[in-house]
Amino acid sequence: MQKSNVVIIGAGASGLMCAIEAAKRGRSVLLLDSANKPGKKILMSGGGRCNFTNYSVDAENFISQNPHFCKSALSRYTQWDFLALIDQYQVPFHERDHGQLFCDDSAKDILNMLLSECKKFEVKIQLNCKIQSIKKLTENEFQLSTDKQTIQCQSLVVATGGLSIPKMGATPFGYQLAQQFGINVIPTQAGLVPFTLQPEDKEKLSPLSGIAVPCVVSNEKQSFKENVLFTHRGLSGPAILQISSYWQAGETIMVNFLPEMNVAEALLKKRSEHIKMQLKNILAEWLPKRLIAALITPKLLETSIQDMSDKQVNNAAQAIEQWQIKPNATEGYRTAEVTLGGVDCTAISSKTMESQSVSGLYFVGEVLDVTGWLGGYNFQWAWSSGWCSGQYV
Ligand SMILES: Cc1cc2nc3c(=O)[nH]c(=O)nc-3n(C[C@H](O)[C@H](O)[C@H](O)COP(=O)(O)OP(=O)(O)OC[C@H]3O[C@@H](n4cnc5c(N)ncnc54)[C@H](O)[C@@H]3O)c2cc1C
Repeated sequence: MQKSNVVIIGAGASGLMCAIEAAKRGRSVLLLDSANKPGKKILMSGGGRCNFTNYSVDAENFISQNPHFCKSALSRYTQWDFLALIDQYQVPFHERDHGQLFCDDSAKDILNMLLSECKKFEVKIQLNCKIQSIKKLTENEFQLSTDKQTIQCQSLVVATGGLSIPKMGATPFGYQLAQQFGINVIPTQAGLVPFTLQPEDKEKLSPLSGIAVPCVVSNEKQSFKENVLFTHRGLSGPAILQISSYWQAGETIMVNFLPEMNVAEALLKKRSEHIKMQLKNILAEWLPKRLIAALITPKLLETSIQDMSDKQVNNAAQAIEQWQIKPNATEGYRTAEVTLGGVDCTAISSKTMESQSVSGLYFVGEVLDVTGWLGGYNFQWAWSSGWCSGQYV
């Protein structure tokens, strides 16, 4: 029988952070993971460069049934705290659009930094570990049976992440454990995920594959100004990933392909200047030709701006600024970056991440019903929630 003060299930971003902080306090910490390596999602994140946080982090950047829940942890362990650690390890990084911070070299720098901290504070990591059952023995004692041994601990931390990328070892274990202990789980859904298209749209838009355009994409709840990327499967790119987290099946989204200008005004100006150009040649100054051909009828595109009525100008502007598309579905967990929903935050202390009903049981990171926008927010949530629990386990 092995004993440890703290057992953490999941050696990903939040589990590693919790382990480091608990071990710093002198707690014996055992980190278990069913995968053969720790931090696999860190390594694959941000195209291999890990968008590890953002210069601007706010509760507005997170989605949850309980929107206030994340505030406490985010304010106690901030992006500046994580940057202090980055600085200590001299990890080179750079800023991209919207304050996103990425490693200059490799996401390995982030994982190696966390593993060095684990080593420094003597966190034990056990990989390839299959957990078979978990019982609560007494008020402050849990017992875990794994395929290798039986373990007892005082604090049990669930850091098993979400359901995205099952190939990387994602499992519903954390949700099932919550339910085993009577803790509510908000239904889950893939987030930050590309859209697939209805067959007729897919056929019509397939010639656009590879085109990326800066757009504003919106639905009734939210609006994002980023690139839209047409792919051979459907729609992707940061603007689409962002809106996908706010999308419900059957809903239409709206895309403005020229958000920086008033298209009708610009066309009317050309008309008043007596410029004799076909609509398609005017629009080609602003947008890729293939895209224009998919948005506007050939007949109108061939028309000279001088011959266009106000109504035709407005129709052309509307086709570009208010393009509506009803996605067929999302690509699902196979390619999603995150999972929406999860362990109900109303059942968890926002200060300690401990269950309100089961003492000694903690939930951190993505397994909770807290989902960040694209932009480093999901890792910041993992660091912040992991850090907070690490002060109490
Ligand atoms: C392709 C991709 C790119 C991403 N890029 C970014 C980015 O650049 N910036 C950003 O902020 N976020 C990004 N994310 C999201 C981010 O990776 C996650 O939100 C974050 O890793 C969540 O941390 P976590 O600790 O909760 O879970 P994870 O990091 O997923 O860790 C969970 C751990 O639990 C283990 N586990 C699961 N089930 C069990 C079980 N039954 N028994 C034992 N262990 C188990 C897993 O093996 C894993 O090691 C990306 C996600 C993906 C998929």
